[in-house]
Amino acid sequence: MRALLEDIAKEVRPLAETGTVAQYIPALAAVPPSKFGMALVRADGETFTVGDAEEPFSIQSISKLFALSIAMEWLGDALWARVAREPSGMRFNSIIQLETEGGIPRNPFINAGAIVTTDALLAHDTSYRDLLLGEIRLLSGNPDVAYDDEVHRSEIRTGDLNRAMAFVLKAHKNLNGDPLKVTEAYFGACSIAMSALDLARAAMFLVAPQQGRTICGEGLHARRIRAIMRTCGLYDQSGEFAFQVGLAGKSGVGGGILVVQPNQFAACVWSPPLDQYGNSVAGQAALEKLALELL
Ligand code: GLU
Repeated sequence: MRALLEDIAKEVRPLAETGTVAQYIPALAAVPPSKFGMALVRADGETFTVGDAEEPFSIQSISKLFALSIAMEWLGDALWARVAREPSGMRFNSIIQLETEGGIPRNPFINAGAIVTTDALLAHDTSYRDLLLGEIRLLSGNPDVAYDDEVHRSEIRTGDLNRAMAFVLKAHKNLNGDPLKVTEAYFGACSIAMSALDLARAAMFLVAPQQGRTICGEGLHARRIRAIMRTCGLYDQSGEFAFQVGLAGKSGVGGGILVVQPNQFAACVWSPPLDQYGNSVAGQAALEKLALELL
C-alpha cells in the first residue's frame, strides 16, 4: 500500500501545475502550490501516508461533512424541511438557484446549505463552535486540531457572497439567527486546520462502526451521508467524480478531498491547486488511480 501511494504521488504531483490555488480567500492564496500529501486508513486501523500527509491545511468545505453529521444526529428529519438533497449543478457559492428555489438550498454541501445547517446547529446549541472542534478532535484522535484564526479573519473580510446568501435565506424565512453571526460561525468551521491523516481518521465513522463516544453515528446516518457525498460531494463536478473515481467524497477549496469506502478504507489527499470547479486537480487524479487499484 505504501508503495502504491508513493507511485501515485510521483505520477500526479506534476498535474498540480495545471491548477490554481484558491485566490478569493487571501490566506489560502498564500499556500505553496507544490504541497502534496495523501493518507489512507484501512478499516482494521492500519494507516499509510505519503508526502505532506501530516501537515495541517485548511479543510474548508470538508467541514460541511462534520457539520451535516452532527446536524443529522441532533435534529433528525427536521433538517430536511430546510435543505434538499439534490446535486445543484451550479457553483458551490451560486446565489441564483437559492433565489429561484425559494430559499431552500439544493444540498448541505453547497455553501447555502451549509449556512442553513450552521444556523440550525447554533439554534440547537450556542456552544456549537466548541462542540464541532471537540467532535473533530475526538474523531481524528488529534487534540491539536484547531481553528486557524488567520484564515477565519481572511474569510470574514472577503465573504460578502456568503453573507448575501445568508440574507437571501433570512428573507425566505430559512434562517433564524443573525446572518452575520451565522456566517461567522460557518467561516470558522471552514477555517479548521488539520492534516490529510487527521481527516482520514476522522472519517472512519463512515467506514466501519467505531468505538468510543462521538456525536457522529454510523448506521443509517452514515449511509445517508455517503449518499450525499456521492451525489453532491464535489460541487458541480460530482457526476464526473462518480464516473471517474466512484468513491463517496467531499472536497474543499483548500485542496483537500476526503473519500470513504464502507468496510474498507478512508483516504484523504491534499494538493492546493484547483480546477475551475474548485476541486484539487492532482487530488482527483490521485484518487482515480487509487480507485483503479483498490475497487
Ligand atoms: N469557505 C469557503 C467558502 O465559503 C468554502 C468553499 C469550499 O471549500 O467549497 O467560500
